[in-house]
Amino acid sequence: MTVGALLRRAWRASVARLVAIVAAAALLGAWLDALWPLLALSAFAILGWHYWRLHRLLARLYQRRRLRDIDGRGLWDDLEMLLHRRQNEGRARTKRLLGLVRGYRRAATLMPDAVLLVDRGTGRIDWCNRQARELLGLGPQGSEGTFGAVFPDTKVRAWLDVEQTDEPLLDQASPLDATVRLSLRLLPYSPSQWLLVVRDITKLLRLEQLRRDFVANVSHELRTPLTVVHGYLDILDADDYPELGPMLDEMRKQSARMSQLVEDLLTLSRLEAQEALAHREVVAMAPLLLTLKREAQAISAGRHHIQVEDSANVDLLGSTRELHSAFSNLVSNAVRYTPVDGRIDVRFERSADGGVMLAVQDSGYGIPAQHLPRLTERFYRVSTSRARETGGTGLGLSIVKHVLNLHQGRLDIRSEVGKGSVFACVFGPEAVVERARGSDDA
Ligand code: ADP
Repeated sequence: MTVGALLRRAWRASVARLVAIVAAAALLGAWLDALWPLLALSAFAILGWHYWRLHRLLARLYQRRRLRDIDGRGLWDDLEMLLHRRQNEGRARTKRLLGLVRGYRRAATLMPDAVLLVDRGTGRIDWCNRQARELLGLGPQGSEGTFGAVFPDTKVRAWLDVEQTDEPLLDQASPLDATVRLSLRLLPYSPSQWLLVVRDITKLLRLEQLRRDFVANVSHELRTPLTVVHGYLDILDADDYPELGPMLDEMRKQSARMSQLVEDLLTLSRLEAQEALAHREVVAMAPLLLTLKREAQAISAGRHHIQVEDSANVDLLGSTRELHSAFSNLVSNAVRYTPVDGRIDVRFERSADGGVMLAVQDSGYGIPAQHLPRLTERFYRVSTSRARETGGTGLGLSIVKHVLNLHQGRLDIRSEVGKGSVFACVFGPEAVVERARGSDDA
């Protein structure tokens, strides 16, 4: 039956019952010659019955008792039946939601990572899984305390305060055992809570260290034999062995390439081993720019138009050795990846935020856009043949990235195929030192 039909049936039955009662009262009243008293009595009886049904329904609702599924034929029965259905639907929904919540909790419990729900305002730990208890030594349910008490470290506080949802906090010591290293990741769970995922990365870091040590050791071990090979090749004079001339040239070229590769690998290992610069000095930019110009001219051997411009007139705070290595890598790339007669412009200029930028612009081959995000990976090359031809090791930009990271700077790359590229080293205002008067310009 449709809803409309049900409603009509209920109203009809109710009105029919009312009319029947009033008619019976009127007939009885006429027969007993007491029409009005009997009509009034019937009206009171009807009113009393309605009040009694209302009272019964309210009592059940107040006492949160289950209503009955009555298939009666009146308005009250229908109302009770509808409320009963609504109650059942509500219960089913709550049961389903509870099942879902239990499912999510079970999933969070089974996760190998420690998971915590942290109040954004107070830092109170509202919930955590078993792994979090074990990894962070938290108390039993309800007495976990606050996040600040678990990690009193100011570095963690600062990280949480700036709501670092993009960058995980890596290599944080566990509050239970400093040799256990953790990674912390923050996820916005709700407007009032953070979801914090804590992972034990001790093994991962150990492997990473193993890899670094291995590369550093191999590079170091290769240095001596390469020096010996170099030495012997230098002794051999092509004039004494004319038939071996081209072969000797090629051997010298390849051994020089290998030496460069070893040196670059050692530089990278050294840079990777540092978390921050141990010592910062004032890097005099005017002589450094002059050196860069000379280096570019030496590599170009007069085949390019090279210009160096210093409009910043400031110096940098950092390591002269590392910054020189980074800048000269960019300059060397610009010369090597620009055809004869191309332009190379090195500009040292202030940026709008009070920082400074060293941009190396060339009118060379350019780089297709899809390669740009991967350029600073080790051994990543856009064109292997061109890189080999020009004598690259594939580690230059990786070195540049590491050096800039150590200086809290960044590398911006813009490029257009056939038009050229701009590699800009961008530094914040904290790296800028006003130049002493009377310094040389480039
Ligand atoms: P490589 O020693 O091979 O030059 P780099 O790490 O310095 O290695 O550079 C990585 C790759 O980026 C290069 O192989 C080259 O394809 C590309 N590249 C770097 N600089 C430039 C540039 N100025 N113009 C065009 N391509 C470049």
